[in-house]
Amino acid sequence: MSRMSIKRINKELEYFLERKYVLDDILENLRNIYNNIKIDTFIITRGYNDEDNLHIEITKNNKSLIECRVPNDYPFKPFTIIKHNFSELGWNNYLNKLHNNTKTIDSKILYFFYTIQFGKKGIFLTYENKNFKCYCCSSYSCPINWHPGLGIKNLVEEYLETEFICKYVKKYNNKMLMNIYNHFLEYYKLPEEIFELIVNKIV
Ligand SMILES: [Zn+2]
Repeated sequence: MSRMSIKRINKELEYFLERKYVLDDILENLRNIYNNIKIDTFIITRGYNDEDNLHIEITKNNKSLIECRVPNDYPFKPFTIIKHNFSELGWNNYLNKLHNNTKTIDSKILYFFYTIQFGKKGIFLTYENKNFKCYCCSSYSCPINWHPGLGIKNLVEEYLETEFICKYVKKYNNKMLMNIYNHFLEYYKLPEEIFELIVNKIV
């Protein structure tokens, strides 16, 4: 690994530890999520390409969520996701499976609730609900989407969005969201378009 890459990773870790991107106005539930997240780094000797590789692992309450290899020329290339706690499938295959599962539901509702909960748009969920773009091609791990301005923070966000989709694509949870959504519109006698307006006000 180049010295520049190590320096950059250390800076990002410091930034994370000091909660510099947990802004004052961040939503309270998000603050709690970030407070439980830890990031560890370790070296795998004779790993990929028979080289020493730097790995980072994101854990929550001591449970491993995701493990990645940091490329030698980081931050010019994205992390490679080695392991994650959703499935045994590789990251791209898992994302595509998840994407397929969203085709049977109204994923626009997921977009609304994600945006409200996280106070920003994600990379997978879209308002259009057309599901044209596969998740693997929206992922930060795809080199097309990567640029050196991105970092560990975005990896954490990608993980959290995936976790959100994985949870609310499930029948029971999805029904719950649909009920909240429909009751809200009914109670306030609002047309569906108003939700889009609310969400657009947030982001
Ligand atoms: Zn793709």
